[in-house]
Amino acid sequence: MFPVSIRQLSLDLLLFKRKMVPVSSPRSQEDELVLHEKRIASHLSILMGGPVEVRFTDNRTTMISCRRKGALHVRLHRMFQQADDRVLNALALYLKKVSPGNCAHILDEFIARHRSEIRTVPTRRRPVSPAGAVIQLDEVLERVSNRYFGGAVGDVRIGWGKERTATRRRRRTRIHSCALATYCFEDTTIRVNPVLDSLKVPDFFIDWVVYHELLHHVLPVERSAGRTRYHDARFRSMERAFARHDDARRWEADNISWLVK
Ligand SMILES: [Zn+2]
Repeated sequence: MFPVSIRQLSLDLLLFKRKMVPVSSPRSQEDELVLHEKRIASHLSILMGGPVEVRFTDNRTTMISCRRKGALHVRLHRMFQQADDRVLNALALYLKKVSPGNCAHILDEFIARHRSEIRTVPTRRRPVSPAGAVIQLDEVLERVSNRYFGGAVGDVRIGWGKERTATRRRRRTRIHSCALATYCFEDTTIRVNPVLDSLKVPDFFIDWVVYHELLHHVLPVERSAGRTRYHDARFRSMERAFARHDDARRWEADNISWLVK
């Protein structure tokens, strides 16, 4: 699928035909990717005037994302290994938020051209357990689905997640993550932070958490230049349709200190 793998394959065939033993083994596809990451990082560093680190992803929907943490950490779909200077210049301007319209156009065009490289096979679904000591999440899902979505939420699963750790935040799959639950677009699964499996948590609050994640499941996400906006205006207005929206917000504000340590 990638030019890199085709190049690699022909090199392997050549070596086989000549019955040669390479002095050092040919570079693997992963090594090639690392070289491209470094190439793009140094290109962007010059254009951005500061240190940039680049990591490729195999994401299905978020093609570009970045976070400043000392250096600028840029995550790009691995299609960007084929980005030429024009695309990288547009990417730099886009990241610097200089004339974002024009750059987004060039990036959108590049992404559209390489769309066939975006993995479409769904990830294997790991089992989840909705049964808690206090709260049965499958019952919550059914209640919220019936009340707000006419019982028609399609293929979505729910279960208790693991307690959040720093490493979980660096997952490569695309997760929309709120503090108390996540919705994973890859396997259409809601995972709720087990801290909520408590008698201290009122029904309306667990309903609210599940309602929020279900909105991520049912609403289309707004995308531009591979960047995803999870909470756009439409999402926020749908949130306000929750019967006890204000109570839920207030309860969260009052209790967040023990909920999320
Ligand atoms: Zn959210």
